[in-house]
Amino acid sequence: MLSTLGLIAALAGGCAQAQEPYARERQALLKEIEAMARETGAETGRSVFSARVMAAIAKVPRHRFVSAAYGPLSYANRPLPIGQGQTISQPYIVALMTELLDLKAGDAVLEIGTGSGYQAAVLAELAHKVYTIEILEPIGKNAASLLQQLGYKNIETRIGDGYAGWPQRAPFDAIIVTAAAPQVPPALIAQLKPGGRMVIPVGAESEVQFLHVMVKQADGSILNQRSLPVRFVPLTRND
Ligand code: SAH
Repeated sequence: MLSTLGLIAALAGGCAQAQEPYARERQALLKEIEAMARETGAETGRSVFSARVMAAIAKVPRHRFVSAAYGPLSYANRPLPIGQGQTISQPYIVALMTELLDLKAGDAVLEIGTGSGYQAAVLAELAHKVYTIEILEPIGKNAASLLQQLGYKNIETRIGDGYAGWPQRAPFDAIIVTAAAPQVPPALIAQLKPGGRMVIPVGAESEVQFLHVMVKQADGSILNQRSLPVRFVPLTRND
């Protein structure tokens, strides 16, 4: 028979199970992200991610952003297919890119490549307003309805070519690009505020891509740091 304490623990566990179907997997993922941050710290300059970023990763239900078939893998530290040849990024990469943006509570952030909407949700936990653009209509519509369903009121979505940024909502405190471009789109640099930060994978599809962190200086010049080698789907263009 269960002791009273055992019974309470079992009941509490049962409750957590019902509300948080992958609570244990999520905890394990947080530990794995912390370990990877330590391992890659020399290259990224961030061996410990901020508590705010880790809390956002802990909170956003990644399993809701992948199809049911991938549910059991949703807290594995790996990218997963989201249809049409696109992927939801590896959770460590989402955490790293978010960390590198140094978001403040009042910030307006632009994301290029909504994909599943997961990265946008993580950003929305940390910033005032998130603007996100997706070029593939079915994927963008799907993400928009999921984000609405999850109650994210500070995310504005749009279908379009993010190469041109979002001039009507510019300038931005931070810009994150979640598809790789051979060159940084000039419009994105133009739409960054002085002091603003952009995190973007740079490199052609066939080359090794690197994550770059760009900081716009008060005089408009760009300070560009190269971070980790990465692998992203390409930033495509509507011609
Ligand atoms: N941030 C996403 C991962 C995105 S994968 C997530 O959290 O799930 C990259 C996405 O960028 C794909 O959905 C792809 O269709 C989109 N994309 C590629 N080129 C684009 C462009 N020029 N403008 C907007 N989105 C683009």
